[in-house]
Order: sequence, then C-alpha cells, then structure tokens
Amino acid sequence: MSVPRFLSRHGRYLKETQRQLYQTVAALSMTVQLVIAGIDAIRPVGQWPLEPLIGAAICGVTAALLRYTQLPWRWMEYGILAAASLSVTGQLALAVPPAPSPRLLFTGVFLFLAGFTVLQARWASLYALSVFTAFGAVTLLRGGDLTLLAELGLSGILSAHLSIYGRQLSAERAEVAVMQRLAHTDALTGLENRRAMTAHLETALAATPGALVTVLLLDIDHFKEVNDRWGHAVGDQVLKVVAERLKVTVGTQGQVARWGGEEFLITLSRLDPVPLRALAEELRQAMVPPAPGVPPVTFSIGVAGRDEVSTLDEWLQLADARLYQAKQTGRNRVEGLPVDPPLEPKA
Ligand code: GH3
Ligand code: MG
Ligand code: MG
Repeated sequence: MSVPRFLSRHGRYLKETQRQLYQTVAALSMTVQLVIAGIDAIRPVGQWPLEPLIGAAICGVTAALLRYTQLPWRWMEYGILAAASLSVTGQLALAVPPAPSPRLLFTGVFLFLAGFTVLQARWASLYALSVFTAFGAVTLLRGGDLTLLAELGLSGILSAHLSIYGRQLSAERAEVAVMQRLAHTDALTGLENRRAMTAHLETALAATPGALVTVLLLDIDHFKEVNDRWGHAVGDQVLKVVAERLKVTVGTQGQVARWGGEEFLITLSRLDPVPLRALAEELRQAMVPPAPGVPPVTFSIGVAGRDEVSTLDEWLQLADARLYQAKQTGRNRVEGLPVDPPLEPKA
C-alpha cells in the first residue's frame, strides 16, 4: 500500500525534528565534557584527563555529521551506538583497579536505553545482555560491587520494558492519528469530508453569535450528464479538478469540503458582503473545461450566513433551500447573498 502524501511529509518532519534534537544533545554533551575536562585541568592535578576529551571528540564529530551531512539515518544511529559502546568498553578495560565505578555502571543504563531506541527489540535484548555480561565479568573479576551489578540488571529490564512499551504506544498513537485523518478526508478528492466540515460548523456556531461566518453549498449542474456521456472515470476526474480549483480559489479565506456526491460545502469567515459576492461569483465561474474534451461545468450555489440561524440544522437547511432555489431559477447562479445595508440618510 502506498503511503499517503501527508503521512510521508509528516514522517520527514519527525525525522528532521529528531535529527535536530540529536544534534543539540550531541553539542551539549560535547560542551559538558569539555567543561569537565577543563575543571580537571585547572585542579592541582593540572592535567587534561583523557576520558572526557575522548567523549567530547565523539560528541563533536557526531554533532558535525548530523549538521553537515545527510548520511542515512540508520547509519547515524548505528554509528552513535557503536561509538558509545566502544568508548564504554575502552573505559571498562582501563578500569583496573578499582572495579567499575558507579559512574561507569550508570553509563551501562545509557547504553541499554540507546540500544532499545536504535535496535529492534530482539537485537536490543541481545545487545543489552552482552553489555550486562561485560560489566558482570569485569565486576566479578575485579571484586566490584555486586549490589550495583544487580541494580544495573534491574535497570536493563526496566529499560527494555519502557522502550518496548513506549514504542508500542507511539505506534498506536501514529495509527490513531492516521485513522483520524482518514476518517476526516474524502478519498476521491483529498478534501475534508462531511464529518470534518460538520465539526468546523459546530465550532463556528459555538463561537460568538455575531461572528461573520458564511456557508456556501455548491452543487454541480447536470453532473449526471457528464457521467452518462463520458463515463464514471471522467466524472471522477472532473470532481477532482473541481475540488482543486475550489480549494485554490478559496485559499486561506475559508474551508472547503466534499459534502457528498457532486456537492461541496465551503465556509468563509470574516467576509463582508461585497468581497463575499465577488468570491461566490469567482467560484461559480472558476470551472473552465475540467477535463480534456469536457465542456465547462457550472454550479448552483446556496449561501447562508451564521447570523441568520441559531442551529446547525437550520443553517444547512437554509443553504440547501437557497441551492434549490438556484436550481429552480435556471441553475448556474448564486442565491442568498447578503444585500448591502441601505445607505444611512444624510442628516
Ligand atoms: P442537478 O443540476 O439538478 O444537480 O443535476 P445533476 O445531474 O447534477 O444531479 P443528480 O442528483 O441527478 O445527479 C448527481 C450525479 O452525481 C449522479 C451520481 O452518479 C453522480 N455522482 C455522485 N458521486 C459521484 C462520484 O463520486 N463520482 C462520479 N463519477 N459521479 C458521482
Ligand atoms: Mg446533487
Ligand atoms: Mg448536481
């Protein structure tokens, strides 16, 4: 199944955010480690310690790679995990005596978390087990603290549980978001559907009663003929083109939905009568030939303002009645546009 366009856009956006987050974390870690090394250097010892300097170098390289290259995302993650594992293994090997310090064991928890974030659950479990075995071997061989080792084991299990559960949760959330999006989208035209538009209308009704919101109910004239003469596939194509043109014409002035069949519902906000009339006419005339060989389709439009009604049913019925009126009086026309208020007589 191909991924809908808005989803792959969403995925790219998430990856980009993740990349920026990793970049910031890497740059911060580098700074912190440089500060630690600097503090050590100005202590009476007077030496730059190797450990944080290596850490700072790894973080710096990582931040630069994230910032200046577009290496495949997976490679970056594996690379970061491998670099962290190598650096911890090196520190473990050098930790003679004393046995691994609490700080080093704490790094084990970081590795567990990183492993479960980057690898699939099965590989992450194997990875965590290897890390734990390495820490265990060093602790036992060098007489380290067994309580710390047990705590590390427990935190490994906890990391596994949290990561797997977290992944499951975010997968479910993503699925719900997709479902919601699909439930509010018309499959043919990609416009919002009746359910989504009804929600917008309810919101508009709940807002200040005086709010200037107008509904336009559009119905393509004699659309059945398009299907009958050119076939259903061409009919579908016409609906898609019409949807796109309505969307472009309305732009940011309102919302467009496919209300059903060959009917579209548009809400416009904050439009005074004069621009509203101009836009309604523009919509009506926007239908130059919608498909090769198909003559322009025309619209009948029923208009109803928020200020004329008090319930959603009333609003829709009023727009529908005016649409019917437009059909009855010859089609290809707009009914229900507000008239300009009469001019105030001059004093
Ligand atoms: P009027 O001017 O009175 O609105 O006439 P009309 O022919 O447009 O109206 P009618 O209600 O008689 O026909 C609507 C047609 O729209 C019938 C139906 O087959 C067609 N239609 C509805 N949904 C779709 C669709 O998704 N694709 C296609 N190709 N046709 C559709
Ligand atoms: Mg109709
Ligand atoms: Mg029609």
